[in-house]
Amino acid sequence: MSHTYDPVTPPVALTVAGSDSGGGAGIQADLKTMTAHGVFGTSVVTATTAQNTRGVHDVHALPADHVAAQYDAVLEDFPVTAVKTGMLATAEVVETVADRLADATVPTVVDPVMVAATGDRLLSPDAEDAYDALIREATLVTPNADEAAVLVGDPIESLADAEAAGRTLVDRGADAALIKGGHLDGAGSSMDDAGDPMVHDTLVLAIDDVTVRRFENPRIDTDATHGSGCTLSSAIAARLARGEPLASAVEAAVGEMSGAIRRGYDVGGGPGAVNPTT
Ligand code: PLP
Repeated sequence: MSHTYDPVTPPVALTVAGSDSGGGAGIQADLKTMTAHGVFGTSVVTATTAQNTRGVHDVHALPADHVAAQYDAVLEDFPVTAVKTGMLATAEVVETVADRLADATVPTVVDPVMVAATGDRLLSPDAEDAYDALIREATLVTPNADEAAVLVGDPIESLADAEAAGRTLVDRGADAALIKGGHLDGAGSSMDDAGDPMVHDTLVLAIDDVTVRRFENPRIDTDATHGSGCTLSSAIAARLARGEPLASAVEAAVGEMSGAIRRGYDVGGGPGAVNPTT
């Protein structure tokens, strides 16, 4: 038997995000998700966090010029066909990444990570305004209801509010906005015929005309959702890297999240993380 070299050439995606030493969110979740989707993941680390399942102990933002150097090193060598951004930590990094993406032609998923589930800040308050430049470059922006409220300046308490926020974000230049409903209850959620709770994600697409789609999935009864936003945005980016159209990439990735949460990783002493390989 000969030992031949028989390489594969997968699509390449890039994540620009923070490191979670606990492995459940951030760069670590992004790379696992991309691998699970048959995509080679490259990474630009914007910040490191010292954290585990119980909380964030420390955050160390990397200098914007070092973030830019990582981005340039990846882009000058790899045929990147989709980018996602996650935790960007500072206004300087948000601006640097927006500048770089303005010169790129790849589809970009912007997950505007602001606060960890534990309540720890992952974005400095002065960086919230800087997000406008990044939204202009986004193929898709994926805020949860709390992040959408910060970006548009209005509370999100119902599905009508979610749709209005999505329309505002596409008015500001994103091709599409997915307002995630996991943080919504009351007028932002519903029950199925059996009386079980459902989560609604609202997609506002401005590709030709503005259209709105709503995805309804079972709400899994757990607080072990660490990494769900990272996993969802990376799954969409991986599908875009493989050449899938945006709306079907979003629908498929949203549908995969129930299983990722249901079969989450029960690791560490605090709430576990979602399982991007399911
Ligand atoms: N990025 C990093 C580095 C994080 O530590 C976290 C949460 O702690 C997130 C992103 C956001 O995680 P999620 O996917 O749960 O929104």
